[in-house]
Amino acid sequence: MYLCFSDAKESCMIELKRFVFNAFQVNTYVLSDETGECVIVDAACSVTEEQETLERYIRTHSLRPVRLLSTHAHVDHILGNPYIVDHYGLKLEGHFDSKIYLDHASQFAFSYDLPLTRVEPVSRQLNDGELVRFGNSTLKVLYTPGHALGSLCFYAEKEAFVITGDVLFRDSIGRTDLPGGDYEVLRQSIWEKLFVLPENTIVYPGHGPETSIGREKTGNPFVAIG
Ligand SMILES: [Zn+2]
Ligand SMILES: [Zn+2]
Repeated sequence: MYLCFSDAKESCMIELKRFVFNAFQVNTYVLSDETGECVIVDAACSVTEEQETLERYIRTHSLRPVRLLSTHAHVDHILGNPYIVDHYGLKLEGHFDSKIYLDHASQFAFSYDLPLTRVEPVSRQLNDGELVRFGNSTLKVLYTPGHALGSLCFYAEKEAFVITGDVLFRDSIGRTDLPGGDYEVLRQSIWEKLFVLPENTIVYPGHGPETSIGREKTGNPFVAIG
């Protein structure tokens, strides 16, 4: 789908493609613009068939992956990183607090029966407020801990959408019972970083369908206004 709410089409045209990968039904997003450059967010492809699906989309649209971004490092969100790193020569960008999950990813993968060939470390930290650029496009990094340590969201201000990982879902929020989870911290992240965005901002979560900031602000049973 094309996301553009400005007349200046050439300066604001991000195409967002969603894939649903692995047993945990993780949303992997490919964002591209008119230059052909693209970024991959949460490469969750876990088996050859899923890797080929992603690769085919990139190839048939003549895209050039230039960055690999991570919202957080729970094992279901990182399974495809080795493939992307090897295939496109990218390095993983995320938050260094992800290390605790990456260090234990093999154990988690084993206990959930997920195929994990290798664990890619975060090579470069993305900090709150930093701008992630690709092609003619820009994403703003939002630091949003609470579901996981080092959770990040990626906000496309011009195109009015935000990728929220497992922080905010349609009618739900991320669980806080896993290591590093904290409900009050998560609530604060949502209110201070996400609910301050314009209400028409489309939310693309790490699992499930999209929603909007306005919808969740008024109707989300976990964090809406009372
Ligand atoms: Zn998670
Ligand atoms: Zn998840």
